[in-house]
Amino acid sequence: MKNVIEITNLNKIFKAGKEEVHVLKDINLNIEEGSFASIMGPSGGGKSTLLYIMGGLDNPSSGNIKINGKEFSLMSDKEKSVVRRRNLGFVFQFYNLVPNLSVEENILLPVLLDGKKLTRQKETLDELLDIVELTHRRKHTPRELSGGQQQRVAIARALINNPEVILADEPIGNLDSKTGTEVMNLFQRINKEKNKTIVQVTHSHESAQYGSMIINIKDGKIVSASE
Ligand code: ADP
Ligand code: MG
Repeated sequence: MKNVIEITNLNKIFKAGKEEVHVLKDINLNIEEGSFASIMGPSGGGKSTLLYIMGGLDNPSSGNIKINGKEFSLMSDKEKSVVRRRNLGFVFQFYNLVPNLSVEENILLPVLLDGKKLTRQKETLDELLDIVELTHRRKHTPRELSGGQQQRVAIARALINNPEVILADEPIGNLDSKTGTEVMNLFQRINKEKNKTIVQVTHSHESAQYGSMIINIKDGKIVSASE
């Protein structure tokens, strides 16, 4: 199987004034194409930092990250943002939708940012609205939606450019357990039917069971990775 993400000897040190915090310590990790991986571990252990560095939203202090065989550190900022928009989709705990844009405008935002024509994406938009069951809500704004519906908009937005990988930071962390289960079922469908690789950070053992791999991080180190 092909690795869509390859991380070697990754270290991350945050500098805050004179203080240095060594947040990620010599991380080595491969994520295979089509897998559904869950990153777990105590708060402050470096889970979000790892996910953001994996997605090129933050830079490592040392080490290498390859997405589809392409090394982030060898790319210009512009090339990195193209990879982020075309190869990766991001989902966050608090949805990060634009409040004054409609559901469909929010979903199409990555297309606009990529300078592509919106009309060509109409079929994809319709298909995604159907998958996330929000066709009837397409003209609504986020504040008119429930938390679960808002997260489904964010998931559709993450999929609009047809990326290989979805990176999700505690995607059900703000949802009640029933809604959380619905969102996890949606992720599972996207993983199985659309063959997307998914990497999520989660506190929920139940939601980690959806995945094919569990990565435990503690004090910046991978303490176990199971398949
Ligand atoms: P987790 O997601 O596992 O809760 P994080 O990756 O958010 O952990 O944070 C890991 C550690 O790195 C924490 O001690 C946090 O305070 C620190 N940290 C995260 N981001 C920054 C930053 N931008 N500057 C300084 N320290 C940070
Ligand atoms: Mg976090």
